[in-house]
Amino acid sequence: MGPVSTCKLFGAVRAVTGIKNAVPLIHGPRGCAYHIGYLLTARGGRRIAVASTELSESDVVFGASEKLRDRIIEVDRTRKPDIIVIMSSCATSIIGEDIGRVADETSELVDAELITVSAGGFESSQGEGYEEVMMALIHKFCWRMEPSSKPSVNIIGEFRGGADLREVRESLSLMGVDVNCVLTSGCSIRDMTMIPAGHLNCSFCDVSGIAPCRFLEENFGTPFIHHPIPIGFSNSLRFYREVLGYLNLDYPINEEFSAFIEERDRIRAELEGLRVAVVSGPTRAVALTEFITELRMKPVLVSMDMIGDYTLENLRGVPGLRSEILVGVDVSDIEEAIIRTEPELILGGLAETRISEVSGAPLIDVMHGSSLTAGFRGAVNLGARMCGAVYGDHDCY
Ligand code: SF4
Repeated sequence: MGPVSTCKLFGAVRAVTGIKNAVPLIHGPRGCAYHIGYLLTARGGRRIAVASTELSESDVVFGASEKLRDRIIEVDRTRKPDIIVIMSSCATSIIGEDIGRVADETSELVDAELITVSAGGFESSQGEGYEEVMMALIHKFCWRMEPSSKPSVNIIGEFRGGADLREVRESLSLMGVDVNCVLTSGCSIRDMTMIPAGHLNCSFCDVSGIAPCRFLEENFGTPFIHHPIPIGFSNSLRFYREVLGYLNLDYPINEEFSAFIEERDRIRAELEGLRVAVVSGPTRAVALTEFITELRMKPVLVSMDMIGDYTLENLRGVPGLRSEILVGVDVSDIEEAIIRTEPELILGGLAETRISEVSGAPLIDVMHGSSLTAGFRGAVNLGARMCGAVYGDHDCY
């Protein structure tokens, strides 16, 4: 009755909005563009502009390829993007509008690179939207090339920029590792052309990052890892160790970790024994669950909107996990589980605001916030937020 995931078009638009100077153009009624643009703007804290052909009823009945052609040219002339990603919506997928043909016929008339993605909302969920956009970009911009002279990686399936991505990039840079491309957050066309020069691909999304990583391995010989995103002290340590191991780099990561042990223990002393519910996407949920157990709290519920190939394997690797696990259930099931499992803290998103109020368990929004959660410093920050949420004293740690 109340879905917890959204449509393929949402995922496709979100992936495109990460790319530098790219415009998502939806061939569909204006509502798809308005609602998705509004939601992404609210979530990300910056205005997300989504172009649309704004189809009328007769367009949906008789087709509107001329309108699409005109809108592509208009977007190219007025916004001067490097890339326009043209996406179908439910309406144009149902009538079988050939957006690929329109793009081919229009490509000579515009300066932007044109990419098309079939993104009817009913086709699948947002995960496939992310994946198809990344695959289309790889097919368009990646060709065989010599490996980078410096150790380098690509991060595949990261759509959120901000503090976490900065932390990971800066930490890798200190270790002597270049990040050639983050697909798609903040990437340019040039970054994407450098993907095959990377020595290692790191999937940061268990749902959408694995297929592109496998494709890159098969076609360019680049190995990949599917480590949960580096949230938590131990998990971050293992992530950086894994990268350093693959790249055969000598770096004192254990010493760096040691500097945080005292702080970890102080957070632990504050939070030990607390019951916690995690409601999140799969890759983040696994990392957060491990962090909770690392702090000796008790994860009583882990709810994920969907899972990828490695999610359950990674979750099973969390030491001593005894939590109830839900996958793809609707909002009322999640709320009922939260009431039943009686957490004292919820790590979730805006959708858990109501149940947080009803149950009395404070909520930390780990889905949309811009505050730091990744790496050792992110673990300190998130630990302090948990203390603040539980004890109502942001200075308690
Ligand atoms: S489900 Fe269909 S109509 Fe609704 S936003 Fe997605 S593409 Fe548009």
